[in-house]
Amino acid sequence: MTISPTATAVAPQVLLGNHLKALKLPTFWREYEKVAMESAQDRADYPRYLLRLCELERIDRDRRNVERRIRMARFPQTKSLDTFDFTAQPSLNKALVLELARCEWIEKRHNCIALGPSGTGKTHTALALGLAACQKGYSVAFTTAAALVHELMEARDERRLRALQKHLNTVKLLIVDELGYVPFTAVGSELLFEVFSQRYERGATLVTSNLPFDEWTSVFGSERLTGALLDRLTHHVHILEMNGESFRLTASKKAQRRPAQATNASQKTPTEGDADIKT
Ligand code: ADP
Ligand code: MG
Repeated sequence: MTISPTATAVAPQVLLGNHLKALKLPTFWREYEKVAMESAQDRADYPRYLLRLCELERIDRDRRNVERRIRMARFPQTKSLDTFDFTAQPSLNKALVLELARCEWIEKRHNCIALGPSGTGKTHTALALGLAACQKGYSVAFTTAAALVHELMEARDERRLRALQKHLNTVKLLIVDELGYVPFTAVGSELLFEVFSQRYERGATLVTSNLPFDEWTSVFGSERLTGALLDRLTHHVHILEMNGESFRLTASKKAQRRPAQATNASQKTPTEGDADIKT
């Protein structure tokens, strides 16, 4: 932009506002007067005054970026590891989860697979690791396997599959929740396979499933395709095993103070049932 000679006729605050807006420095604009007064009181010189404004702008920008990444990730809820009770899920490797929350595996483009029955905290853990990734500066996309397959099929029908695949390839961490509840058609399986295949060694993928690996064929239909998919997904992988009791079930049992008549009660061991749950 060129600064016109008439610019001098305009109040400097107005011009400053325009320039800071054009330079995308909203915190400078919001804070410059207040910080100027504080700096005058503290007898801070001009470089220190500018430094204070720069620091405020960077802090605010980091916060805005984290918020933007969280919005873009489309998490169905916000969950963090702070609210995860590891004592309620003794089968889960806490040290590994904390290590994964540091996000080095995302940088290395490794994968993570959380396996276990319903209610054992797979989605909670996936959401928490997704949130940690957003906070550390990585772009994240959260979806369920069924929704992703639906979206891929829809994009294919509307001739915008390439664009969707490109988006799914560029995101640093793709979280695919709930693989295993809904079996896919042959086309759906192939489209999902392509997503995992294209991300192989290019981006980190986190999958949660209620099914052990040897039952994944029942979801994908083809044994050959499942084999090829597992081959890629498990090459550089961190496995989170969650074989304890359902958190929901235990919580409702405690609330009711009587044994729940659950259909999967036979799967539980007595020690798992004794886990101390914080509600
Ligand atoms: P899954 O995905 O394995 O079916 P979820 O992660 O959806 O299970 O967990 C079910 C509910 O129980 C969620 O509200 C989740 O936050 C909570 N939950 C599960 N495990 C824990 C845990 N160990 N500590 C705290 N909350 C938990
Ligand atoms: Mg879940």
